[in-house]
Amino acid sequence: MNLNELKTITDGFQSTQKMPVLFIGHGNPMNAIYDNSFTQTLSKLGKSLEKPNAILVISAHWQTNGTYVSTNPWPQTIYDFGGFDKKLYEVKYEPKGHPELAKELINTVTSIAVKEDIAMGLDHGAWTVLRHIYPVADVPVFEMSIDYRKSPAFHYNLGQELGKLRDKGVLIIGSGNIVHNLRLLDWNNAYGKPFDWALEFDLFVKTNIDNRNFQPLIEYQQLGKVAQLAVPTNDHYLPMMYTLGLANKHEPIKYIYEGYEFGSLSMRCFQIG
Ligand code: ZN
Repeated sequence: MNLNELKTITDGFQSTQKMPVLFIGHGNPMNAIYDNSFTQTLSKLGKSLEKPNAILVISAHWQTNGTYVSTNPWPQTIYDFGGFDKKLYEVKYEPKGHPELAKELINTVTSIAVKEDIAMGLDHGAWTVLRHIYPVADVPVFEMSIDYRKSPAFHYNLGQELGKLRDKGVLIIGSGNIVHNLRLLDWNNAYGKPFDWALEFDLFVKTNIDNRNFQPLIEYQQLGKVAQLAVPTNDHYLPMMYTLGLANKHEPIKYIYEGYEFGSLSMRCFQIG
């Protein structure tokens, strides 16, 4: 292939600068239609970012046996929850997919064979937050799944392999929650003071991020009881492994939102780069 041909193929994917990486604590699906400090932060965030060529979401709500990437050109809104306000089921957030960049992801990852899923839509870890960040849905979105059989270190390392996509104008978002205990939700405490163990675990994560010391975050289970309460199952924690894996050594990391929902969900969000 000559240089001109290569240029033609990648022209559509060029970005003027390396895209940042985000971790978003998505919390309650109702945030999709709420106007609160969290959703206002997301709206402002969208205006502060350079418009990406596409968004790659790694969401807590797409867990699979093996790692898949969505090559669906027209992903549909998935209502993967039950018992919420009828209005939530009326929301549609349906940007295009980006099969070409999804295939680029498959080529970029060499440690494992990432498989294609041509039917996957957008789960609520993606659309409930993207609706505020890019309300017009004019940026293509594709998702990569989380292999639930694998260790936190596997996900961190796989995150590191995705770095090249940032240079092709892909905004990568890990969507989960640092602290996520649904069994201990305190329904009378929507936005108030969290449980002590929730505060402690969230601070443990923040401190290690501040110190660029990611190893204890990969080995979070060593924290014992507090980790068991904060991360009883690690589906919402693992998306952060990808975000951290994508951090380059000297890139700034800033917290774009800090807060709690129902005492047992940390809404902490951060941006790298
Ligand atoms: Zn969730």
